[in-house]
This record gives sequence, structure tokens and C-alpha cells, in this order.
Amino acid sequence: MIIYKTDEEIEFIRESCLLVCRVLAEVGRIIRPGISGAEIDKAAETFIRDHGATPSFKGYRGFPSTLCVSVNENVVHGIPSDKQIFRDGDIVSVDCGVFYNGFHGDSAYTFPLGDVDESVMELCRVTNTSLYRGIEAALAGNRLGDIGFAVQQYVEREHRYGVVRELVGHGIGRELHEAPEVPNYGKRGRGPMLREGLVIAIEPMVNQGRKEVRTSADGWTVFARDHKPSAHYEHTIAIRRDGPDILSDHSAIEEAIRGNAHVRAVALKTAAV
Ligand code: MG
Ligand code: MG
Repeated sequence: MIIYKTDEEIEFIRESCLLVCRVLAEVGRIIRPGISGAEIDKAAETFIRDHGATPSFKGYRGFPSTLCVSVNENVVHGIPSDKQIFRDGDIVSVDCGVFYNGFHGDSAYTFPLGDVDESVMELCRVTNTSLYRGIEAALAGNRLGDIGFAVQQYVEREHRYGVVRELVGHGIGRELHEAPEVPNYGKRGRGPMLREGLVIAIEPMVNQGRKEVRTSADGWTVFARDHKPSAHYEHTIAIRRDGPDILSDHSAIEEAIRGNAHVRAVALKTAAV
């Protein structure tokens, strides 16, 4: 069942999403080759609790940490640890959720560290742009399939990368994962109609190589079966009468990156949404 949100509830979700993005900006300030996933996870949890919120992921179905930290061929749900040391040339996907004032927020960003291969930078740019292509299709009166179609068309038809099928975006609100599922692939004009008050996380996961994934022996980490790199960007948005309202905000993350010589900017080709 889809739970549509009131304007007041949307503002609560926005607050949670903005806190998530401040956490990701903090990650953007400190991440560099040589530090570990455990270090950014600890900083994130401290930041969240200092702001009176709770990490959404920690304890969720037994997930052990605040952040999902997924390096290179790892797509999503990587578990940060002190053995996970970032290296020059890595791309590090960081996903974060917080629970604040009764509502969850959810957002993700992939950080390219140091001398990242140009082809992998292109993967990051295309994945980031595909997120905005999906958001542009999130118009009241459109169908859910229009979002997935827009992402898939851009990623697979225009750029020949693989859109991960097994993991999808989702409704969000009082629960971290609500209906509907929001696939990053689909057919135009199919699925439930997008109506005002629908709040969803759109989160393309894009593989440089083939789309197939596997889950590692830790039971969580999803990786590209061909071990080629994968990128992940996520926004939480609300469907409004006058267009999509992006409740999360990556601008503070991008500003943090500009101030961190160890992280490369993902040149944005964002549309005016
Ligand atoms: Mg997320
Ligand atoms: Mg999500």
C-alpha cells in the first residue's frame, strides 16, 4: 500500500534527508586514500547522534553499521570495517539513512579518490546524470515505469552500461522502505500513477560491465559478477503539482569535495529540476 504524505510530513522527510546530506558532506570532507571504512562510519554515526537522530541502517535486518560503504566492484550494502582501507584510484559509494522526528531520509553518493581511471569517472558521471534523468520523469500524472525507463534508456541505450535489476529504489516515510518499489528499468506508461504526496528514493546502481550481481559471503555486500566497477547515487524526492521536489541536496557534498584534494569532482550534467 502506498502511503501519500501531507505537505507537513514532506517537510519532516526533507529535514531527515538534509541531515543525511550533511553526514555525506562530512564524509566528503574526511575521505581520502589510507583511511578506512570504519573511520568514516564512526564519524557518520557520531554526527547523526550529535544531531539528535538515529542511523536508519544500523540494526536494520541485522545490518551492523551506520553507512553502507561499497568500493569499486561492490555495488551496494558494503559493510565498513577497519580492514577496508581506501586506495588511490578507488571509487567509494556511501549510502546513508537517518531517522529523525519520526521520518527517515535516504541518500547516496559515489566518491572518486585520487587518480581514478577516466573510464570510471565517466561511469560516475553517467550514473549521477541518470539519477537526474529519472527525477525529470517523476511528474504527477506519469507512471512509475516512466522513471525506470528514463534511467535505463540513458544508461543502457546511450552509454552501454548495465543497470542493476535486483536492487531498486523505494517509497520512504515513517518506514525506511515503503511501497512502491522504484526500479531503475522499466517500460513507459506502465505501473502505478505518480500522484502528489508520493515520496520515493530514486537510486540508480550502474555497472561499468554487465548488469549481473552476486552477494558476497558476508551476506550483505552486493558486487558486480564480472568485478568491474559500479556507481550509485540516490535522492529522495516528493511528487508535487509543479514537478519533482528533491528533498535531499548534494550541493554541500559537492562543496566538501571541492575542498578535499583527495576526491575528484563528478562533473554534473544535471538538468534544471
Ligand atoms: Mg540509500
Ligand atoms: Mg534507498
